[in-house]
Amino acid sequence: MTVRTIGGATIQKVEEICGPGFKPARMFPKFVQEAFDAQKHWMVPEHVEPGSDRLVGSVHSWIVKTPKHTILIDTCLGNHKQRHNPGWNNLDTPFLERLKACGCPAESVDFVMCTHLHVDHVGWNTKLQDGRWVPTFPNARYLFAKREYAHWESERRAQGAGKVNDGSFDDSVLPVVEAGKAVMIETDHQPDPLLTLKDYPGHTPGSVGINLKDGGRQATFSGDIMHHPIQVYHTDWSSQFCWNQELSAKNRRKLLEDCVESNALLCPAHFPGANAGYIRPQGDAFRIEWDR
Ligand SMILES: [Zn+2]
Repeated sequence: MTVRTIGGATIQKVEEICGPGFKPARMFPKFVQEAFDAQKHWMVPEHVEPGSDRLVGSVHSWIVKTPKHTILIDTCLGNHKQRHNPGWNNLDTPFLERLKACGCPAESVDFVMCTHLHVDHVGWNTKLQDGRWVPTFPNARYLFAKREYAHWESERRAQGAGKVNDGSFDDSVLPVVEAGKAVMIETDHQPDPLLTLKDYPGHTPGSVGINLKDGGRQATFSGDIMHHPIQVYHTDWSSQFCWNQELSAKNRRKLLEDCVESNALLCPAHFPGANAGYIRPQGDAFRIEWDR
């Protein structure tokens, strides 16, 4: 398992599942076949399934260890959860064992941070115990962006219980709040001297990027501000899952500009394979230099 270092901190990716999903024309409303084909030479087979063109994506968490804290960024789908997507329904993966194998047993996590509150970023917030959803990380504070939480709380009032984000708000977010483990934060909150947050709304109303800085180096955890590396090359290709397509495109470009400026290692939530890289300007967009 790759352990990357940023100054005195370490980063590790822990995968829950990985495989081909949507075809790009379905994923991106602004999809253009020729533009996609022009990048295929490096995307197949790691990022695009040969033959079918389906986009390959992983669902993973990032473990960040600073000299002071162990932080888990995004918590995937979780086990035993009832979901409409058959590939995400009633999973039973050894995710917690994988975390432990990375030197991160559940008890060691100090902070859980969700870049946003979609179903594939909150799942392991809770686990099933005696028929109830309880916080998986017993010693952790769970940090939720205030604006993001408020949006989904209001959606729940509108849609009713068990509906929001395919039920995940009820089984993976609310039990954490009810257990008194949630902290609603503004973007200027600094959970650790090495960590800062920045607002990049658009995919959801409260999507944030999380920056880890030390020793003159930076990593940026970007959640779903991008789903697939083709969006580095075509920043206006927002996904069909984006709450606000235009705002998402605008802040995707902003994030990529920020990564260029700070020479940050970009660590998105769904890139498979090398899964992180450095962003460089190219024409009127960008390219990615993989960190292998
Ligand atoms: Zn996601």
